[in-house]
Amino acid sequence: MNIIEDVKARVYNFGNKTADGNRQMKNLLGGKGANLAEMSALGIPVPPGFTITTEVCTAYNSLGKEAVIDMIKSDVEQSIKTIETSMGTEFGSKENPLLLSVRSGARVSMPGMMDTVLNLGLNDEAVLGLVEKTGNPKFAWDSYRRFIQMYGGVVLGMKPASKDDIDPFEEIMEHLKEKRGISLDTEFTIQDLKDLVYDFKDAVKKRTGHDFPTNPWDQLWGAVIAVFNSWNGDRAVYYRTMNGYPSDWGTAVNVQAMVFGNMGDTSATGVCFTRDAGTGENVFNGEYLMNAQGEDVVSGVRTPQQITKLGSIRWAELAKVDEEERAETYPSLEEVMPELYKELDGIQKKLENHYRDMQDMEFTIQDGKLWILQTRNGKRTGAAMVKIAVDLMNEGLIDDKEALLRIEANKLDELLHPIFDPKALKTANVIAQGLPASPGAATGKIVFFADEANKFKNSILVRIETSPEDLEGMHVAKGILTARGGMTSHAAVVARGMGKCCISGAGALKINYKARTLTVNGHEYHEGDWISLNGSTGNIIEGKVATKEPELSGEFAIIMKLADKYRDMQVRTNADTPNDAKIARSFGAEGIGLTRTEHMFFEIDRIKAMREMILADTVKGRIAALNELLPMQRSDFEGIFEAMQGLPVTIRLLDPPLHEFVPHELATQKELADDMHISLQAVKNKVAELAEFNPMLGHRGCRLGNTYPEITEMQTRAIIEAALNLKERGITSRPEIMVPLVGTLAEFEAQDRIIRDTAEAVFKERNDKIEFSVGTMIEVPRATLMADLIAEKADFFSFGTNDLTQMTFGYSRDDAGKFLPIYIEKGILKADPFEVLDQEGVGQLVKLGTERGRSSKPKLKVGVCGEHGGEPSSVEFFYNSGLDYVSCSPYRVPIARLVAAQAAIKAKY
Ligand code: ADP
Ligand code: MG
Ligand code: MG
Repeated sequence: MNIIEDVKARVYNFGNKTADGNRQMKNLLGGKGANLAEMSALGIPVPPGFTITTEVCTAYNSLGKEAVIDMIKSDVEQSIKTIETSMGTEFGSKENPLLLSVRSGARVSMPGMMDTVLNLGLNDEAVLGLVEKTGNPKFAWDSYRRFIQMYGGVVLGMKPASKDDIDPFEEIMEHLKEKRGISLDTEFTIQDLKDLVYDFKDAVKKRTGHDFPTNPWDQLWGAVIAVFNSWNGDRAVYYRTMNGYPSDWGTAVNVQAMVFGNMGDTSATGVCFTRDAGTGENVFNGEYLMNAQGEDVVSGVRTPQQITKLGSIRWAELAKVDEEERAETYPSLEEVMPELYKELDGIQKKLENHYRDMQDMEFTIQDGKLWILQTRNGKRTGAAMVKIAVDLMNEGLIDDKEALLRIEANKLDELLHPIFDPKALKTANVIAQGLPASPGAATGKIVFFADEANKFKNSILVRIETSPEDLEGMHVAKGILTARGGMTSHAAVVARGMGKCCISGAGALKINYKARTLTVNGHEYHEGDWISLNGSTGNIIEGKVATKEPELSGEFAIIMKLADKYRDMQVRTNADTPNDAKIARSFGAEGIGLTRTEHMFFEIDRIKAMREMILADTVKGRIAALNELLPMQRSDFEGIFEAMQGLPVTIRLLDPPLHEFVPHELATQKELADDMHISLQAVKNKVAELAEFNPMLGHRGCRLGNTYPEITEMQTRAIIEAALNLKERGITSRPEIMVPLVGTLAEFEAQDRIIRDTAEAVFKERNDKIEFSVGTMIEVPRATLMADLIAEKADFFSFGTNDLTQMTFGYSRDDAGKFLPIYIEKGILKADPFEVLDQEGVGQLVKLGTERGRSSKPKLKVGVCGEHGGEPSSVEFFYNSGLDYVSCSPYRVPIARLVAAQAAIKAKY
């Protein structure tokens, strides 16, 4: 054997205020393992255990089970000994058994995506030892039946495969409940639990053909391998794909001593957050259950209670529970176990200060002793993300640069979506209220099954509770509503992570999956009925509710101001109407990077004149039709210039092929023929004449303006006259006229001449002048190669990365839908290049075009218009390529401002 083999440890121990690992080692130990190590070293009570590294998982994927067990066997045995010593118990002992939890943990948290096995080590003998040792037979047998159930599901593959399948264990339990006339798990007697264990094992034998494994070591290795396998399970793969995480990361396995929250009324388990994950408010909050084991809190089976008294009072208000009943039936942990609460409160403060971020923690109280099972940076909504970053900065925990870097650009999107119009809310019919689990406004049609969420364009997923299988449907739905579950239920946590509006625990809802109905206070709603959710208040509203534009205010405004402090790349907007321009300015756009003039021609009253222009047989006829269009274009430009108040406005001359404007349906062709007093056949002939085999490579862009110079003349006249008209009213305009689809210098020069001659003519007529510039789009690959020559004549460049991508890849954007998704699925492409700039390929052309352009005109202004101008990774690339500005749709302007600042901070500090 080679002696200089890989010597990196494969098993890392933690517990007893020490640890082999730390929080920096997420890639190797997974997020959960790294944080367990960190907490242990901080002196926080963590049940002792060890982490098997993600590299072992990767090794398993190539070497298989036997080889991997061989590789780590002696390390694992050693670590189990350490746990035994520290807990004073023994793995496999009949009298004094050590029980384990086996937990998965990838680099990033994937809520509920992978599987955990609790109470491992139990068998028919050990359970008796546990009875003896604790004097609590109900607890012991309950733990045993849970173990068989979890192990059967996770390791032995007995989980139901689809929503129609029955969970064999649930079926047995339901059966017994019916027979005994009880409804809750907690009502089972000791004998019931023993019967369940017997029946469960029987079910395992029947289903798998093997006896349930009794040897604790066999159980352990089975569970470890199952965790490795879960990395390639459907749920994990879906979540990975959705978030773009590579499949070779693998998962770590955490093996840890069990602590029990289900040992009676001195035990409990819960989940808590150092701040509010929905709003960002700086209040400690969370939920717990007395006498329960971990999964019970998140699964939504029992309604959990609040940790703090304040939270409990707020909860009671929403749940319409009066104070007496609250204090009696639903008291907070703060009231029930004040000492332990104090300890927990101390730990949450310590952890937040240590991590300098909001923490999401899991804890268990076993017979009056507090244990922390997990901490991580908590998932949060976009609004909470912004507020927490600003608050942490104000509290001095992070500086302003870090506050900016804490903002996930794409998540800002949530804050830029319409909200319910307060006026409409006043008259809304609120049919019930649940917990405001994830804020936002959602309107849609009711669906009851996750895999049917795409049945309607806008759907609201209505469930009794959700589970990890529902992930895909939750993603598709506009909002999520559950009848059960608290603020930390699966639905709530996942929805907040997705930034999706969610109301949970709306107890008044009666949901009937079979009949596909939702009943509230005697009123029945069906699949396909509209409902609206206000995720900020928990209100469930009948029908559709009107929405309005969001505003940039509060903490969001503070972040944007900070972004402007560090940003040196400009952000403009793509806007075709004065209204778009106004919205974009309110979001901080510093100009318009692209106004598409063709959209202006599609409006009903204009398309007619446009068609007459196209159908004209003579130059004279064409000019007559263009003269009809002139005043319309001029007033459009006046509106846009006025909205932009002196900021630069880039106007692109007519770009699309003419056949897009002519009618293709017989009825409209007839109408046009009548209007123009020509024959139907003449119209048909013209339409046929304009047809192209490959319109995107056809008669469009500057090729139009060079074959029909009258069009360029008219558009230039409209622009210059509009600016002069505004000047008379004391308003400055800064038009930048942009020639599309230039591939050769001569193409540009010909257009440039027409534009400048026309402008001169208008100046003479009006005996007045304005400043304007003439530049070009760079979107044909040849233009990037010839950029030095073109730059000698052009005042500015603007990369049209949509066409540039199309022509560089040779993918037709309109046809790529047929193969791009498959390419991405197969890994041939990492992302859709029309969404995320292909930095490697198309990016080279952006860099090259900029360099060559500036080699002949050093101060050449270079920008980007096109979808990529608002996509975070692309914006960062444009910054690093030295561009002067990016231009994007109005709603993406704040995102681009933020990313520009983040890129500057990363590059300079
Ligand atoms: P997830 O990543 O899905 O949150 P976890 O590994 O955190 O999965 O485990 C799921 C649940 O099992 C947790 O809620 C936790 O309370 C419980 N659990 C995990 N480890 C232990 C342990 N050592 N003792 C008691 N309960 C545990
Ligand atoms: Mg957990
Ligand atoms: Mg283009």
